[in-house]
Amino acid sequence: MLVIKVGGGRGISYEEVCSDLAELHAKKHPWLLVHGGSNETNALATALGHPPRFVTSASGYESRYTDRATLEIFEMAYCGKVNKGIVERLQSLGVPAIGLAGLDGRLLAGPRKSTLTIVEQGKKKVLRDDHTGKITSVNTELINVLYDAGYVLAVCPPAISDDHVAVNVDGDRAAARIAEALGACDLIILSNVPGLLTDPEDESSLISHIAPSNLDHYFKYAKGRMKKKLMAVKEALAGGVGRVVLGDARLAHPVQEALAGRGTVIGTETNHRG
Ligand code: ADP
Repeated sequence: MLVIKVGGGRGISYEEVCSDLAELHAKKHPWLLVHGGSNETNALATALGHPPRFVTSASGYESRYTDRATLEIFEMAYCGKVNKGIVERLQSLGVPAIGLAGLDGRLLAGPRKSTLTIVEQGKKKVLRDDHTGKITSVNTELINVLYDAGYVLAVCPPAISDDHVAVNVDGDRAAARIAEALGACDLIILSNVPGLLTDPEDESSLISHIAPSNLDHYFKYAKGRMKKKLMAVKEALAGGVGRVVLGDARLAHPVQEALAGRGTVIGTETNHRG
């Protein structure tokens, strides 16, 4: 099984990703797609008069403050427009796709974190009513039932909390958890950059290979949300995924390019597992 995460950033075209995935499906290469939708959510939130609020946690990670109104807008964008758009496209390419949010059938579940300690202008603040969570369980039984029946999944946040509230979860970390739970040999994380760059402003500064034992050394290059991607990479490798590739969603055949090693490969250069 191959798990692919495609982001929701500016410049990402789902068309190429979907047609590449359809080719893999036709070749009987099994995959599961996890997708984002941050750009659509921001646009919708602004249009609805509830603009996004991004905060930096005390530990230095950037995240979206998700009050109830934001969560509902997030669901409209992720589970509505983006997920159904991807399913529609995959169906048109002959892929029997089903779109599920993490909360459907408790596909992705875990504890909610309702308070968020942030740093704003150098000061610590506590934000309440946050709908954010961490995934601690993946319903592989549900995934297996659907795949055994011939379906293919396109999955997105939110997840469901242990006390049954929809929670925003990081898509990269969700993909890492799913890859781990399914024993995936490869995890491909596609976004709007060629991979991990030593200089985020210079696309030619790509780091093409990282040995898993050296990964911590590379966190210093990651700014903003790239830090979470590296965290997801670390979790996936620790969970037994053989290889993670940070690839470019803007290319033609983005998935197959990443599978061939284009991007930042973290793991063994040739993956012999699974
Ligand atoms: P997505 O929505 O596709 O998951 P994100 O926007 O969360 O992607 O993360 C990708 C972004 O991370 C890039 O657009 C880039 O601006 C930023 N970034 C920060 N540091 C780096 C880095 N060292 N290398 C590459 N991208 C980086």
